Amino acid sequence: MDKELYDKKVKCPICKNEFTTKKVKTSALRIDKRETDLYVHYKTVNPYLYSVWVCPKCGYAAMESKFNNIKKYHHSIIAENITSLWKPKDYGKKRNIYEAIQTHKLAIHEGNVLNWEKSYIGGLSLRLSWLYRLKGDKELEIKFQKYALIIFTDCFSKEVFPMAGMDSASMAYLIGELNRRFQNYEDSIKWFQIALKDPNIKRKRIVENMVRNQWSIAIEEYKEFKQSDSENEQCDEEFDDKSNNIKENGEKDKKNEKKQKERTEIESNSNGNRGSKIRKKLFFRGAL
Ligand SMILES: [Zn+2]
Repeated sequence: MDKELYDKKVKCPICKNEFTTKKVKTSALRIDKRETDLYVHYKTVNPYLYSVWVCPKCGYAAMESKFNNIKKYHHSIIAENITSLWKPKDYGKKRNIYEAIQTHKLAIHEGNVLNWEKSYIGGLSLRLSWLYRLKGDKELEIKFQKYALIIFTDCFSKEVFPMAGMDSASMAYLIGELNRRFQNYEDSIKWFQIALKDPNIKRKRIVENMVRNQWSIAIEEYKEFKQSDSENEQCDEEFDDKSNNIKENGEKDKKNEKKQKERTEIESNSNGNRGSKIRKKLFFRGAL
C-alpha cells in the first residue's frame, strides 16, 4: 500500500512552512465501481483520504485544488481563528479514516471562516459523507449528504460553474439523485429533467445514462411510495373505524355498567336492610 503513495512537498501559503503530505500515485489508481451519488470505489488505496492538505505548523487546511487560493487578507483571518487555537499536528503521514474525517472537518470549518464559496463547502460535505460511509456510520453519512444537498440546491443558480469540480449537467444529476435517495421524488424528477435539458449533457455520455437510469428508478419508486402511502391511509381509516367501534362499544359497555350498577342499587334497596346485614356478616368473617 505504501508503494502507492508518495510524499508531495508543499509550501504553506499562510505561514510559508514547508511540509510534505501523502498523495496517491496516478498510476496506482484503479477504479472498482461508481455509486450513483458519484462516489468511486477504488481497488487500491483510497485517494479521498488524502484530498485535504493541512499545514502542521499553522493549522491551515484546504482541498488540494483550493490550497493556494489565498488572498492577503486571509492571513490574519487564519492567524486569529485557527493558528491561535492550533495544537501542532502532522496529517502528512499515512492516514486512517478517523484522520481523514478530521481533515475534512477542519477544511469545512476553515472554508466557512474564510467565507469561501458555498459549493466548496458542499463538495467537502459530500466527501465527508462518503468517509462516514467507509467508516460504517450511517447516521452521519446521511447528515452530511443532506447538508451537501441543501448547499448544492441553493448554489445552483447563484454560483459559477464548474462547481465542486462539476459542470451544470453533472450537478443537476447529483441534486436529482440525492433527492431520490431522500425520497423527495418530485424534486428528484424535476432535477433529472433539468440535467437532460442541459446542453453539457451531450458531452457527458456516462452522466446522461446515469440520469436516464436513475430517473426511471425514481418514477418507479415514486409510484410504489404513493401506493404504500395510500395503503397506509386506508389502514389508518380502517384503524379509525375499528377504534371508533371500540370507543362506541366502550361507551355502550360503560352505559351497561351504569345501568347494571343502578339495577344493583335498586335491588339492594328493595331488599331493605338485608343487604347490609349480609355485608356486615362477610366483613366479620373476613376479620376473624
Ligand atoms: Zn502554515
